Amino acid sequence: MADLENKATENVAGKFYVDMEECIACDACIAEAEDYFVMSDEGYAYVKIQPTDDEGVELCESAMDACPVDAIGDDGE
Ligand code: SF4
Repeated sequence: MADLENKATENVAGKFYVDMEECIACDACIAEAEDYFVMSDEGYAYVKIQPTDDEGVELCESAMDACPVDAIGDDGE
């Protein structure tokens, strides 16, 4: 489960974020929601833009569901 304490600094502020300790760089979130997730050079994904409409939120939630290690959180701020 994603831990806000391990939120990668690259994540833009907002609800969704990637826990850099949990992420295994599998690219699944980017395949689901490439407008919102991107891979860093350090080997973990991060949220590059927060969704601003229902469609975007659904894509980010699909990315959460697709993540095999539950590295994406939705309790960010
Ligand atoms: S789906 Fe999860 S483990 Fe895979 S790159 Fe995205 S955050 Fe990392």
